[in-house]
Amino acid sequence: MEHTQPHSAAAGTRLVEDGEQYDVIIIGAGVTGLYALYRLRERGFAVRVFEAGGGVGGTWYWNRYPGARFDSESYTYGYSFSEELLQEWDWKEHYSGQPENERYLNYVADKFDLRRDIQLNARVASAVYDERTHCWQIHTEEGYRVRAQFVIAAVGVLSAHYVPDFAGLESFQGVWCHTGRWPQDGLEVAGKRVGVIGTGASAVQLIPEIAKDVAHLTVFQRTPNYCVPLRNGPIDPAWQRQIKASYPDIFQQCRDTPGAFMHAFDPRSALAVSPDERRAQYERLWAEPGFKKWLANFYDIMLPGEANEDYAEFVRQKIRERVKDPVVADKLVPTDHPFGSKRLPCESGYYEVFNQDNVLLVDVREAPIERITPTGIQTRDAEYALDVLIFATGYDAVTGALTRIDIRGTGGQTLQEKFAEGPRSYMGLQSAGFPNLFTMPGAGAGNFTRGCEPLVEWVSECLGSMREKGLTRIEATPEAEEAWRAHVVEAGAGLLRTKANSWFVGANIPGKARFLLGSPDSAPVMRAKRAEVAAKGYEGFVLQ
Ligand SMILES: Cc1cc2nc3c(=O)[nH]c(=O)nc-3n(C[C@H](O)[C@H](O)[C@H](O)COP(=O)(O)OP(=O)(O)OC[C@H]3O[C@@H](n4cnc5c(N)ncnc54)[C@H](O)[C@@H]3O)c2cc1C
Repeated sequence: MEHTQPHSAAAGTRLVEDGEQYDVIIIGAGVTGLYALYRLRERGFAVRVFEAGGGVGGTWYWNRYPGARFDSESYTYGYSFSEELLQEWDWKEHYSGQPENERYLNYVADKFDLRRDIQLNARVASAVYDERTHCWQIHTEEGYRVRAQFVIAAVGVLSAHYVPDFAGLESFQGVWCHTGRWPQDGLEVAGKRVGVIGTGASAVQLIPEIAKDVAHLTVFQRTPNYCVPLRNGPIDPAWQRQIKASYPDIFQQCRDTPGAFMHAFDPRSALAVSPDERRAQYERLWAEPGFKKWLANFYDIMLPGEANEDYAEFVRQKIRERVKDPVVADKLVPTDHPFGSKRLPCESGYYEVFNQDNVLLVDVREAPIERITPTGIQTRDAEYALDVLIFATGYDAVTGALTRIDIRGTGGQTLQEKFAEGPRSYMGLQSAGFPNLFTMPGAGAGNFTRGCEPLVEWVSECLGSMREKGLTRIEATPEAEEAWRAHVVEAGAGLLRTKANSWFVGANIPGKARFLLGSPDSAPVMRAKRAEVAAKGYEGFVLQ
């Protein structure tokens, strides 16, 4: 039985009336959708947000699993647009957890009076472009029908949760759920036999938390990851004061770095220093919190090659040191992909869990899962009895939430058809044949809010300038789109991100075309490119 969310009413919000016309419909009330609503309303646009969930927050509404938290420093992830908000909000931990993150986004929704324009429990089922009026017709599953000149699909890069199609799931007599659809009222694991499928970023956060309470835990692993210690901690009052006094510097640092984090690479090559000096730097950064050990390290650790492998070996040793049984350690050590080719899972006590007597690691590459049975999981070699089954199996990333909507552009073409061989877009902003529809790809590999704020600002400026000129239609040209696609292929080929079977390239979803999802360019380069496009009168778009 799947544990599902209760369907709460959208209290306090005015309901949309049939056929209403808006300037802009925003799909999604996560970090991106909330900010887009704020910016566009500020410019006087009539805006409505449709959100499938029963609350605001997107990722931080859905991911209620124990251990869910930032791997970005909390104070680099929060919005930067309001000095008042920055000074009012106290982040309690350096890497804040889901409950606080959700509270924060609710606080933002209240502070800026956003709720009155948000329709919760409203999942957009279709969006059809009407060439005659340059408008989109939007339908939700609940029966709302509205029209809007523009659509901003702030549907999330990691929001279309993915449950593999295992035979027999419907027969399972225990309780199951996906980490990204964790029940609002919690999931009882204490004293239960629990199975977790997957060992990616969510699993690595979840497993140490539930391992404290379960009777028995079986972890089904396909790919071991390079997981690094998060080293989270509370923010004391002195730190709090320092953070609040340094926001301009913090955001400036984030603006200057490729992934919009506050860590800048060491400009030296790992191979240009002595082995002792190299090791000393590895150890020093290893003792630091968060992504510093990755993003403040020698620059060439993030390039395919010898330096990368040298650091990968250092991380493998660190894993081995923490796992008592060498056979289990062998299974947990990644050897099939370069360090940093996937987003690095940050952990707090993950490897030690495998020293517990009541925890079992099952390598499903060795013995694949054959089916789910009424009482557990059957692999090629054995059956594992379970009361609770948790899918930490990730997302149909970046494009999944878009292609799950029936989006029809000019000539009736669907976005699903258009994206069949991988996403086709102009800088991730728009797809030719889908005028007035902005997709919000985010930074992909970077610190999300730092990438999303300038993107939202660019789109709202674009719409503002169109309105001033009396324009009603903007569409990316096929030529601009093709040039962008060629750039993604060419520049992507040199990136670590394309060297692993990860969601970055769609490899986690059976049948999904393998293609770099997101930009191969750094955050500063993307901002500069977008600024140039705007400065040249929205070069690459046709405006009418
Ligand atoms: C567990 C987890 C931890 C993460 N940690 C970090 C981190 O530390 N740092 C970082 O930078 N990034 C992190 N991310 C990435 C995270 O997704 C972004 O940081 C950010 O929350 C994305 O915001 P968003 O508004 O673009 O999308 P989301 O937060 O995903 O919101 C999209 C919303 O759109 C709604 N939606 C989708 N389709 C429809 C539809 N058809 N109709 C109506 N509504 C729809 C969804 O319900 C959802 O609420 C994490 C992601 C996950 C899953």
